[in-house]
Amino acid sequence: MSDINSLIRKNIRMLTPYSSAKDEFDSSEENILLDANENSIGSVSDYTANRYPDHLQKKLKKILSDTKNIDPGKIFLGNGSDEAIDLLIRAFCEPRREKIMILPPTYGMYEVCAAVNDVGVVEAPLTGFFDIDLSEIARKTDPSVKLIFICSPNNPSANCFDPDMMASLLKEFQGIVIIDEAYIDFAPDKSWLSNLDEYDNLVVLQTFSKAWGMANIRLGMAFASEEIIDVLNKIKYPYNINGPAQEIAIQALNQPDRQEEMVNGILKQRGKLAMELDKLPVVGKIYPSEANFLLVKVTSASKVYKHLLKDKIIVRDRSKMHLCEECIRITVGTAEQNKRLIESLKGLVD
Ligand SMILES: *Cc1c(COP(=O)(O)O)cnc(C)c1O
Repeated sequence: MSDINSLIRKNIRMLTPYSSAKDEFDSSEENILLDANENSIGSVSDYTANRYPDHLQKKLKKILSDTKNIDPGKIFLGNGSDEAIDLLIRAFCEPRREKIMILPPTYGMYEVCAAVNDVGVVEAPLTGFFDIDLSEIARKTDPSVKLIFICSPNNPSANCFDPDMMASLLKEFQGIVIIDEAYIDFAPDKSWLSNLDEYDNLVVLQTFSKAWGMANIRLGMAFASEEIIDVLNKIKYPYNINGPAQEIAIQALNQPDRQEEMVNGILKQRGKLAMELDKLPVVGKIYPSEANFLLVKVTSASKVYKHLLKDKIIVRDRSKMHLCEECIRITVGTAEQNKRLIESLKGLVD
């Protein structure tokens, strides 16, 4: 593994970040705040929103730090994990010269963010059993590949990867390894967070969008060494997480039991749904899932998709993706939604 500082793009390394008025003083009650050209009278909205939010989200990070047992200096918060993905690419990959590596089939945003930044994408496809192919990764790796994105549990295949293989990648790869754990709360596997201190080239991504049920507030987390977190903080928009989002997240983190209860409910529904789907003649194979969705091979993905659409049920046709021929991806719904899905599929005969 190489020195993180030398992996950072030179212009980013040299950059002086925007310094906001709030950097110098606390926005505590007793100060008269005439520094940021805010509206001193108040807000037109019923929700009081006239002051800029805490740009480093200290209160939220403190609670997160206690929840996850990670030092606040090793936490970055983004406008969804998508912001962290974009910032990592911008911090480490020189446009047109450097690349990221992805392991298809995988989450689409890695490729999209790379394309927006004019950064190349190298593909090291998974094996037929949705496993990491270490020799393919080694074959495709060269010094221009700066980041590897690994999604575990993987979207859309729903499985976690072999931890030994990921560990060997973390040891061998000369760049940064990003493990996207958007679905980790649904998996029996342990998070890579507990290995953060072992690898200074590891970035773990998590999100409030899935298990926490808060996709609407757009809040994602990146955990990494302070060196990496400092770069992300340096290049983010100053006030990237709005105040209501910070407040709502604090509320949620104070009720971890509710999250656990919800996750358990979804897992129970996932088992039931898989069992019911398995009885249907249109269903060929249901892949084992460690996430809140099922990847299902059907007789014809386009037919199933269109049929469900007529009944106002929307699923994702993933059949164009590597190894996902005739596959649809179904998010686990409520008991009632899943029942409607099964009923609709019973009405589909080839
Ligand atoms: C849903 C999802 C995310 C979440 O992205 P947010 O921007 O935090 O909503 C991240 N990674 C993967 C693989 C996902 O499926």
